[in-house]
Amino acid sequence: MVSRVIPVDPFDLVIFGGTGDLARRKILPGLYRRFRDGQMPDGARIIGAARSDIDTAKYRQFVESAVLEFVSKKKCDPEVLKAFLGCFSYVTVDALGDMGWSELAKEMRDDVVHAFYFSVGPRLFEPIAERLKSHAIAGPDARIVVEKPFGHDLETARALNATMAQHFEERQIYRIDHYLGKETVQNLMALRFGNMLFEPLWNAQYVDHIQITVAETVGVEGRGAYYDRSGAMRDMVQNHLMQLLCLTAMEPPSKFDPDAVRDEKLKVIRALDPVEPEDLVRGQYLGDDDVAPYTQDAEAEDSRTESFVAMKLHVSNWRWNGTPFYLRTGKRLRARMSEIVVRFKEPPHSIFEEDTGQSANELSIRLQPNEGMDLKVTIKEPGPGGMRLIDVPLDMTFAEALGEEVADVPDAYERLIMDVIRGNQTLFMRGDEVEAAWAWTDPIIEAWQERRDVPHSYDAFSSGPEEALMLLHKDGRRWRELRE
Ligand code: NAP
Repeated sequence: MVSRVIPVDPFDLVIFGGTGDLARRKILPGLYRRFRDGQMPDGARIIGAARSDIDTAKYRQFVESAVLEFVSKKKCDPEVLKAFLGCFSYVTVDALGDMGWSELAKEMRDDVVHAFYFSVGPRLFEPIAERLKSHAIAGPDARIVVEKPFGHDLETARALNATMAQHFEERQIYRIDHYLGKETVQNLMALRFGNMLFEPLWNAQYVDHIQITVAETVGVEGRGAYYDRSGAMRDMVQNHLMQLLCLTAMEPPSKFDPDAVRDEKLKVIRALDPVEPEDLVRGQYLGDDDVAPYTQDAEAEDSRTESFVAMKLHVSNWRWNGTPFYLRTGKRLRARMSEIVVRFKEPPHSIFEEDTGQSANELSIRLQPNEGMDLKVTIKEPGPGGMRLIDVPLDMTFAEALGEEVADVPDAYERLIMDVIRGNQTLFMRGDEVEAAWAWTDPIIEAWQERRDVPHSYDAFSSGPEEALMLLHKDGRRWRELRE
């Protein structure tokens, strides 16, 4: 198979927070993989910018160790790595002071794409934006990449948008939700809008319900202080699950272009009904012999923050009237698994005898592990003995269907960074989308706070609180089993 990769122009990419955890674990290894695969143009330059008082040689060592730690051994070719390190330089910059800005200005070349990755805490966004402007480092075509969390609620998100808008135009701002960079998520759009097969059935008439699950086995992993102020609703639902819901529920955009896609996603968020309290379940994990309970991980003994949330949602429009969307996400669950499942209705009439084993079709779109899709269809069980039906998966796991090399798809971050350089905003959130998501989320969180809602406990490595199972049971449905 010949791959057609859209070329990338030469660029200067400045990573503010270039010595931080996100840079080390995701951004730098991702850039190496793009370089190794020949997707980085000649003349690509990456400039680390942070407070640490180090020079370029030391920074290259930092980049090298990040690549060696986070890129698989078989992709770490010493010659390639050496050439990659040659793209790097480092400038010590104080986001809150004057240090380093004129040096950074001197590093920037004319006539190449300029991109600035704000891989720092949100309190530094404004000071950095101001200094990029006052030192004439970022021109009108510069691209600004902003990391989550984009606000803590509607008010702070609006303030952040307003701050960014003082310095940059919306077409320059790339708000990252790395779920949108996942191969399967984009494949969901290819599946829906590149085939005739699914779209006619993709509505309330044929779909019984949709489940979206993002389950993790890890706890809060040393991020307790941040997480306890956030909880699953802010940390996962407002952004990642909301984006998955939008792509699943949206109308076909007129073309695959940034505003056409984002307009359709925004309409979905605006069509969401407020959630009834009985359709919401919050949970908090307990500990066991091996792992600590949430309250200990978060170092907040009486914390009421949720590490799990499940809910039933309605998208109030013609397409989805009467089809519930069930969402759940949580930490310390039985399996690390993210998927979207579209469960179709059962055939209106069965021509077969009772109990032949026939059930409804199910399309599952797996984000992790084993990115891919499968469609459960009913066939006749082979062999004699009458008409017995069985369900079999039509498996579209990329690794099996396309061969390992093709299935070795780029990580979400590396794909998104390359989209920034290409100037393609389709897979980034627009300011109004983020605000609409907060406008929907805020009243739910405020209601919890007002009535001092106490989350239900659940065992570590379970499927979450019993009440979450009941959310579907009472509708005569079941969650898909959590398994890797
Ligand atoms: P981090 O490890 O704490 O790194 C912070 C970075 O900011 C460091 O490079 C630090 O430089 C730099 N910095 C701090 N104060 C500065 C100043 N006054 N001037 C210049 N640079 C300064 O944080 P992180 O985990 O990488 O997270 C960065 C952003 O990504 C945050 O907004 C976070 O919410 C978001 N994010 C992170 C992850 C993740 O997995 N880590 C995932 C999703 C989103 P020095 O170390 O040199 O002082």
